[in-house]
Amino acid sequence: MPELPEVETLCRQLNTVLQGQEILRIDIMDPRLGSVERKRGGSGKVIPGTFTRKVAELIGQRVAAVTRRGKYIQLQMNGGMTVELHLRMSGRLLYLAADKPLSPSIVPYCRLTIGLSAGILLLIDPRRFATFAVQPDKIAPVLPDDPLEGLPARRLLEIARTRRMPVKSFLMDQRLVAGIGNIYACEILFAAGIDPRRPACNLTTVEWRKVSKAAKAILCRAVACRGTTVSDWRDLFGCIGTNQNHLEVYSRQAEPCRRCGGSIQRITLGGRGTWFCPICQK
Ligand SMILES: [Zn+2]
Repeated sequence: MPELPEVETLCRQLNTVLQGQEILRIDIMDPRLGSVERKRGGSGKVIPGTFTRKVAELIGQRVAAVTRRGKYIQLQMNGGMTVELHLRMSGRLLYLAADKPLSPSIVPYCRLTIGLSAGILLLIDPRRFATFAVQPDKIAPVLPDDPLEGLPARRLLEIARTRRMPVKSFLMDQRLVAGIGNIYACEILFAAGIDPRRPACNLTTVEWRKVSKAAKAILCRAVACRGTTVSDWRDLFGCIGTNQNHLEVYSRQAEPCRRCGGSIQRITLGGRGTWFCPICQK
């Protein structure tokens, strides 16, 4: 699943190729993408109207900028409309220059294509959870603090004060902190020297300061590495990221800790595999 650094990577790359390009056509291969119009009760029937009309209004507009709100990717149009994409479980974006042919292997999973003046943007999504919405205006950000911009330790302390959940689950709760998934939560807590099982409400200000500092450093490095490819993550141009070469604990059970030489342990926390060093993380 793409986490914050992967989504940020896509936004940066989208900005380099999409800015100023005109939308020439939009082909929606999967009718489920127009879910805003889906009837309540899940009949799956798409009510024609708003969604199709809003998509049609994008034709002829130019991309002014690409921004990120949590894990949402926003294409800001020069006419004031915003396209908001969320990749969810398995979605990915691929950009091809106009003269590059589509690889036949990705065609069955392609749910949407946006034809632009100099290329084509594809939404590929085998599990079909990704969402695509067209908003009439710029959307005001109403998400929790963004870890890439720094999470104030005081604020973390305040939000965590009433929460007994393990600190790792706290960091992964999208309602509290936006965009940190399993890989980075493990890595951040290792860097901060905090045991992932500790109740969030028991961390001190000094410890939250360590978490905040570690989060920023680890996520920024992951962006610089264009994400972590441990399974299917690819960037906008189909290339793997390189941050997997920097992982200290994730998926390293029984291997030696690079800090103390002890053995990395794997436990299950909140239903997710969790890796940590019992010696370095207290
Ligand atoms: Zn260690």
